[in-house]
Amino acid sequence: MQVLKFGGTSVGKPERMKAVAEIITRNDEPKIVVLSALSGTTNALVSIGQALASDKKEEATRQIAELKAHYEVFIKALLATDEKRSEAFEIIKEHFEFFSITLKISFNEALNRDILAQGELMSTKLFTLYLQEAGINAALLPALDFMRTNEEGEPNLERISADLTKKLKDFKGASLLITQGFICKNYRGEIDNLQRGGSDYTASLIGAAINASEIQIWTDIDGMHNNDPRVVDKTFPIAELSFDEAAELAYFGAKILHPASIWPAQKYSIPVKLLNTMQPDAKGTVISKSTNSDDVKALAAKDGITAIKVKSSRMLLAYGFLRKIFEIFEKYKTPIDMITTSEVAVSVTIDEDEHLEKIIAELSQLGQVEVDNGQTIICVVGNFVAERKGIVNKIFDALEEVPIRMISYGGSRHNISLLTDRVNKENSLKKLNEHLFGL
Ligand code: ASP
Ligand code: MG
Repeated sequence: MQVLKFGGTSVGKPERMKAVAEIITRNDEPKIVVLSALSGTTNALVSIGQALASDKKEEATRQIAELKAHYEVFIKALLATDEKRSEAFEIIKEHFEFFSITLKISFNEALNRDILAQGELMSTKLFTLYLQEAGINAALLPALDFMRTNEEGEPNLERISADLTKKLKDFKGASLLITQGFICKNYRGEIDNLQRGGSDYTASLIGAAINASEIQIWTDIDGMHNNDPRVVDKTFPIAELSFDEAAELAYFGAKILHPASIWPAQKYSIPVKLLNTMQPDAKGTVISKSTNSDDVKALAAKDGITAIKVKSSRMLLAYGFLRKIFEIFEKYKTPIDMITTSEVAVSVTIDEDEHLEKIIAELSQLGQVEVDNGQTIICVVGNFVAERKGIVNKIFDALEEVPIRMISYGGSRHNISLLTDRVNKENSLKKLNEHLFGL
């Protein structure tokens, strides 16, 4: 079986949704098709939740009505027959009855997650109706019947695999199953989700759970690019990446793929293809176990980084100093991205500054603390073997005029990271594009 995931923009307009139907029926391979909510819906649901949380009932009512109107227009353009249209209106009515109830009952986080789940529930139901109308044999596979997270909020792959395998027996013979991305049940059995952008993760988890032949992530770009097309003029799609390279790129800024979606595919060596619904025949990017060359593959940048330097109050870093520092970040569940050390000081970067003040207060007991906000990590990704000289030289040549705050090299053979102020990002990406790719 193949797993195909289509994101919000791929289903966000009736004509895009129809193009998805064409893509999934191009061959007879059995497929599980994972859909996001229509583009804009999850943002609208987040904002309805916020209005309810701050008791702005009128505002929430207005936003709900606006969303409903959007779906009504969508249905009329998607479906042609009176029969299917009235089925669709009936479905939408039920979902919006739920929204009216949310206006009357007291708000809590579990209710909020229920609200967020409505987008994927609606998109998959409407798409299934469209397929039926077009005479395509497809069935709805409810993600809430098998997609589970554990007490840490992490997917429970073993259980997902067992439940999904059991569930698939009910659908014997069906070669097209449509399911929801993003949504799941948590360990308490409540409706929950895999975090924003989590539909990619759903696809990869399903792929791993059923040992799929491949996982396809369909968006509106032709694969992962060698640099950020919003910043530099010339970029090209990367034909092949290893799982490790793709994970670094996804984590350090390439928006096309949810970073967590790599590990399930990697665990079972299932190739992941990044494909474009606008150009269904383009090759896109293939992420797999093997990599074709020992070279620089791509650049990525991650903004919103805070650098924290701790200078030991003793002359030298005594043993145990690093442990004490890391324990503070662990205590506040704040992941560290980069780290560099000298004899007397250590610098780390974080991208979640929710607990920054408390972290600084505790670090200050260990030494003198300096904080720089508004930093950017520039990340050079590839397969760097130590024998291949010159890459570091090229990077330094390119960034000759850029003030670099931190450098991390050798942590993995796939990543060289540099930290600089956000204002230097555009220039750095352009200069590196010239020096490393000749563009
Ligand atoms: N609809 C969800 C979101 O917008 C999940 C996804 O699209 O991947 O975050
Ligand atoms: Mg996405």
